[in-house]
Amino acid sequence: MEYEKIIKEAIGPERIESIEYEGAHIVVYINDKKFFYESDKVARELASQIKKRVYIRMDPAFVLKEDEAEVKIKNIFGKYSEKIRNTWFEEKRSLVIIELYEPETIKEINQILNKIKKETLWTPIIRRAPIIPSKVVDVIRFIRQKESEYIRKFLDNLGERIYRKWSKTPGYWIRATFLGGVRTVGASCILIQTKDSKILLDAGVNFGGRGIDLFPRFDVPEFSVNDIDAIVISHAHMDHVGALPLIFKYGYKGPVYVTPPTLDLMVLLQLDFIDVCMKKGEEPPYSSKEIHEMIKHVVPLEYGQVTDITPDIRLTFYPAGHILGSALIHLNIGNGTHNVLYTGDFKFIPTKLHDPARHVFERIETLIIESTYGGKEDIQPNREESYKMLIDIIDKTIKRGGKALIPVLGVGRAQEVMLIVEEAIRENKLPNDLEVFVDGSIWDTTAVYTVYPEYLRKELRDLIIKENINPFISDSFVRVSSDKDRESIIFEKGPCVIISTSGMLEGGPSVEYFRHLCEDEKNSVIFVSYQAPGTLGRRVISGLKEVQIETRGGEIETRKINASICKIDGLSGHADRNELINYVTELRPKPKRVIVVHGEKSKSFDLASTIHKTVRIESNVPRVLDALRIY
Ligand code: ZN
Repeated sequence: MEYEKIIKEAIGPERIESIEYEGAHIVVYINDKKFFYESDKVARELASQIKKRVYIRMDPAFVLKEDEAEVKIKNIFGKYSEKIRNTWFEEKRSLVIIELYEPETIKEINQILNKIKKETLWTPIIRRAPIIPSKVVDVIRFIRQKESEYIRKFLDNLGERIYRKWSKTPGYWIRATFLGGVRTVGASCILIQTKDSKILLDAGVNFGGRGIDLFPRFDVPEFSVNDIDAIVISHAHMDHVGALPLIFKYGYKGPVYVTPPTLDLMVLLQLDFIDVCMKKGEEPPYSSKEIHEMIKHVVPLEYGQVTDITPDIRLTFYPAGHILGSALIHLNIGNGTHNVLYTGDFKFIPTKLHDPARHVFERIETLIIESTYGGKEDIQPNREESYKMLIDIIDKTIKRGGKALIPVLGVGRAQEVMLIVEEAIRENKLPNDLEVFVDGSIWDTTAVYTVYPEYLRKELRDLIIKENINPFISDSFVRVSSDKDRESIIFEKGPCVIISTSGMLEGGPSVEYFRHLCEDEKNSVIFVSYQAPGTLGRRVISGLKEVQIETRGGEIETRKINASICKIDGLSGHADRNELINYVTELRPKPKRVIVVHGEKSKSFDLASTIHKTVRIESNVPRVLDALRIY
């Protein structure tokens, strides 16, 4: 390692047991207790000298035994010890992870952490405990702890690869190949290649696709798992992460860069996908074994944290406003030679959950932008009016003694709807005792939302952290977890709200609710998201009067649709046509080239031609497998 000499001089060679990479950072394991107590200052000075983050930790051979350390930590926390949910020891890295409820309420936290360092010699790291217990969060943290020896070695090798010698050679080039997710929505995947690096942006599945269209085109010669240096993920929706475990099945052993919430959400959705395949009697394309492999290779990265990921590519995530943890991906390539911004999916106005996507950067030459709602007709109604409309329909429904069913997607829309309804109840726009039933996988996803308040919109974050009001755990929400619960809601309960997956009435408990509730004209069915052609949801909003639905016993039943059917368009997590154009117009600095992806063909072309005409930037709509030289 080229920094060894500087580090040895600063710390003293006799104190050092080993110097290792931890991805793009450097960790020095030492044997001197006294030096360890005071090591923060030295680490900071070293970091500014070698322009890398430096951590100084005690070598695992010198730390206090785990059971003794656990008792000591509890004592040091004193009156706050009941805030501890769990302590995990990553023994090979001398890290102790302390899971705390509401860590912001402990004012003396810094003194406590210093004391733990001093008395146990472990390096403490604080994580927020989920307020709603979450199996997936626990499993991921458990796997990362169990694999800590592997992860230590993996991150050391990764650092060696990242910092291999590099200098720009004459004729330097950068190329983007579109393996999926262009001129369509689904299976997003872009290969970015330079002379020295190959990275992938997203790896999604296309649920509407068959055969070769189901996944990105991994069958091309440019793609080989052994040559990929890194995979970077924008957000946890399956059209962006559904193929990721498949790449591990092919033998990939490199890093996957994601924000921390994206890791939790993507594992949840991938496991759910396997489950759905099994229930349908289909062979899933991968198993939990590959998801386990993926978890071992994840490198979590917060927004704004600049990181080298290959010798000539530097990555930074920025908020995208789409779902929890969703990120814009900024790549500084060739030591500033060319800068790429890939939006993933994004939103450019505030929602209940998130602030709008960031639009000011130091440099951008190429913009790769989504176009889900890029068509001329894709103008969404005003958001505040949409909130009001939703509350009005619920209010009318319960006043006439009916039930309001809201079919939703589990990640994003569900939580947005929960917040709108909770706020209306809190502000007495809906009755105080209104029961809101939350079904399906929504509860598990919402649990993940409670772990990361810092990833939510500022107002919501302040409400949770400063005012101690967490709308996600409001008493109005009732979890539905069994068929017995569902029966009682359908047959015994009075007026209420039911929020349930799936969003398009294709599978999931929402179909069962619909079957029983659709005949009564007092009830309402409120659609809040896009309804794909061919789905039951689409047919219902198109005016279907009678429907044949399969009962859980497998019989076909005919039901009349008398319930009031409503569709609210303004609650999408995607930028609409105006937001897309505003984004390109307001983006600073102005890019030189725009590549339009992630949209139906006509919508992508619509957006590209408008950008070309009004903003006067070169625009492209690549086909699958097109390669574009961007520098
Ligand atoms: Zn998405």
